[in-house]
Amino acid sequence: MANELSLLNNIRPEIRAMSAYHVPDATGFIKLDAMENPYGLPDDLKAQLAQRLADVALNRYPVPTYDALARRLRDYAQIPDAFGLMLGNGSDELIHLLSMAISKKGEKVTILAPSPSFVMYRMSALLNHVNYVEVDLRQTERDFQLDVPAMVAAIALHRPALVYLPFPNNPTGGEFARADMLAVIEAARQVGALAVVDEAYQPFANHTWMGELATFDNLLVMRTVSKLGLAGVRLGYMAGRADLMDELNKVRPPYNINVLTEAAVGFVLEHAHVLESQAAQIRATRAVLFDGLSRLKNVTPFQSHANFICARFEDGDATFEALKARGILVKNMGKAHPMLHNCLRLSVGTAEENHALLTALAATGLP
Ligand code: PMP
Repeated sequence: MANELSLLNNIRPEIRAMSAYHVPDATGFIKLDAMENPYGLPDDLKAQLAQRLADVALNRYPVPTYDALARRLRDYAQIPDAFGLMLGNGSDELIHLLSMAISKKGEKVTILAPSPSFVMYRMSALLNHVNYVEVDLRQTERDFQLDVPAMVAAIALHRPALVYLPFPNNPTGGEFARADMLAVIEAARQVGALAVVDEAYQPFANHTWMGELATFDNLLVMRTVSKLGLAGVRLGYMAGRADLMDELNKVRPPYNINVLTEAAVGFVLEHAHVLESQAAQIRATRAVLFDGLSRLKNVTPFQSHANFICARFEDGDATFEALKARGILVKNMGKAHPMLHNCLRLSVGTAEENHALLTALAATGLP
């Protein structure tokens, strides 16, 4: 009989060296740690959705082309028919599938991304034997921006297959300057690299790159319905040049979107204005939260175009614990990157939750 050690030895060493993606138990907390929309669907829509889901044939596999859902997404996100579309089980899955598609046996293939940015880019590279190069952002007075000369130099040096540009960025929250984005997309194009603009936070942003697909043939635009208010249903989508998307779609598991997700997203997109007005509400309360944070002593909030605010505190760890003791769960980013020392990531909640957060911060008694 095999012993325990030899069984574990079957798992790749780099996976054994990894720590699992940790999601804390939020039961009983005001949950401001995961960039979720704090508002649910209105009761009348919930009832209609229940009916729609009840009518779904759970005994049948999905139709792998997902034509009806793709049509709705194209209309909603204004993706011209000339471009290809790929659906993922969350954009997390799309990120993994991209790494899988570019990974080449016996050849060094590189993904390049700014840092700090979304952790899944690195994870997907590691799991697919893809080299991962990070280029530090530069901190400005108000936010974090691309270091364009460093990005362009790194692209020329490493000749990546793919460059990620999260817009707005997680965990810093801001949009990168348009001219800087253009410079990096162009630098990527010059070495034949795909430039993936990750618009996970698009509902809260000022600008989208979807309309610029025709301008850059190396541009892919990735979105998700998660931050809009459907994080639980798991649907991401990505648009780009049709021939590229045809190839990428080959690595997608044929039934990766389940029939309930398909039906739920289809239904909610028929009522997209409800989620859009919630997003508008979140943008408005973000401004109130930002203002409240700015008024607190020794707190520096960074400009946000997302549904969260990254803020630096005098003592991030102590503030995180003090908030937790008061029943508020946020995300401690202090150890994620030296640039995020003492930083917490605060999701924008309801007006009441934001008020509770500001009150708790004022009451922590920390300097
Ligand atoms: N991209 C970015 C920048 C994110 O912050 C996230 C989620 N935190 C995702 C992609 C993944 O989103 P999902 O898998 O929920 O679609």
